[in-house]
Amino acid sequence: VDKDYKNIKIIGFDADDTLWINETYFYEAKVSIMGLLSHYASPAKIDQELVRMELQNLSTYGYGIKGFILSMVEMAITVSKSRVSNKIIDKIIQIGKQMHHQPIELLENVERVLTLLSKKYKLILATKGDLLDQQRKLKKSGLRHYFQHIEILSDKKEENYKQLLEHLNLNPQHFLMIGNSLKSDVLPPTQINAQAIHIPFPITWNHEKVKEPKKSDKKYKTLTNLEATLELLI
Ligand SMILES: [Mg+2]
Repeated sequence: VDKDYKNIKIIGFDADDTLWINETYFYEAKVSIMGLLSHYASPAKIDQELVRMELQNLSTYGYGIKGFILSMVEMAITVSKSRVSNKIIDKIIQIGKQMHHQPIELLENVERVLTLLSKKYKLILATKGDLLDQQRKLKKSGLRHYFQHIEILSDKKEENYKQLLEHLNLNPQHFLMIGNSLKSDVLPPTQINAQAIHIPFPITWNHEKVKEPKKSDKKYKTLTNLEATLELLI
């Protein structure tokens, strides 16, 4: 075991874009909707309006597909100056329904990594988003049995991690978080003296984008894939 991780007892995993593909589906939905609205606005304009709408609505709807689709509908009404047809609105809603019924596509080597790590550590899942949707995805993923605890958080900030560790009666020095989002999975745990490993996913949602800390301030490791954690942790 790498010296940095010798105290680790519990590993927390993010789910979306860490264990299974997620952001790709949002991206594809956005591209379809841009096509539906091409009569009213350019893809760039649609994207800009959508980012604005999602940020504005985040505190009301939280994370997930439902909030995304409501923001899409609102954006469609705005960019079309209320001229968008009911037919197009219906198509947007249908795209959202399809997103809820997407199959779960695990990232490479997820089961192998979880199998090996679960022999040595207690594993927990810590994800944010829509409760019903995250439960559905976890069930479909077939990964439930690897985790001793599931936490679906409304947000993943320092205080959310603090509460989680208190709830688990765990010293932060014994906790390692692994995930694709610097903003949600990596920086907050390191700020409360826990460890974190960053495994970037090719697409990052606008709202999750943050600047990487300077090298000298960096308190986490970045790996290219999940399997690379084994070398450090086993
Ligand atoms: Mg994620």
